[in-house]
Amino acid sequence: LFLTLEGIDGCGKSTQAGRLASWLRERDPRRPVLWTREPGGWPGGADFRERILRGQWEHPWSEVFLFLADRCEHVLREILPALARGEQVLCERYHDSTLAYQSFGRGLPLEALRRFSRDCRFPLPHRTLLLDLPVEDALRRLQQREGAADRLEGEGRPFLERVRRGFLCLAEAEPERYAVVDARGDEEQVFARLCRAVEERTLP
Ligand code: ATP
Ligand code: C5P
Repeated sequence: LFLTLEGIDGCGKSTQAGRLASWLRERDPRRPVLWTREPGGWPGGADFRERILRGQWEHPWSEVFLFLADRCEHVLREILPALARGEQVLCERYHDSTLAYQSFGRGLPLEALRRFSRDCRFPLPHRTLLLDLPVEDALRRLQQREGAADRLEGEGRPFLERVRRGFLCLAEAEPERYAVVDARGDEEQVFARLCRAVEERTLP
């Protein structure tokens, strides 16, 4: 089982991922859960993550290639082996973040980004849970999380609006894979919605 959790900055991915990983473990104790994230979810990936996120990239494709290199290592070293062992994989951010941020957010061509994913043979998630939150609410949550708004300074609201719309557009195009989950409300409410979104489909 391969699940991904997507959504704009501050929508609550990390908060919910921990709870969801425990829930998946209890639901199917025979199959361990790999809870991972991008960028950086592989041995040595922490430094790589720092470099990507702290870098001042002049050319918009530089960022794409770094995210893709990160995903190549993550898929090959972590995700595929876990799936081959029959584990459940829960990944915060994946291919859909690249489409939403680098295409809808930064204007790079969608088809080219999709082609890289195909050529790199990234496995497709069985279900992608999109935590959808109005940008205003996300920014408010980020302001409360100390220091987290740094990376978005200067881009801020219009950028995140494009990214949010991008995710919704991707979800609309692939309703079988995507579940759009309302991320407003308290943690418990959002968690209950996420569990329902996993349970409403028969998954491997
Ligand atoms: P990023 O993509 O920037 O890492 P994220 O999507 O992983 O963000 P979190 O770090 O889980 O989001 O949450 C952002 C902030 O909002 C945190 O301070 C978290 O405690 C808080 N938060 C998470 N869920 C809720 C909620 N349902 N209601 C209010 N605050 C929340
Ligand atoms: O969610 P997480 O904290 O892991 O995201 C790290 C940062 O990378 C976020 O600020 C997000 O805006 C950015 N990002 C990006 N393009 C992607 C994925 C993440 O700019 N494809």
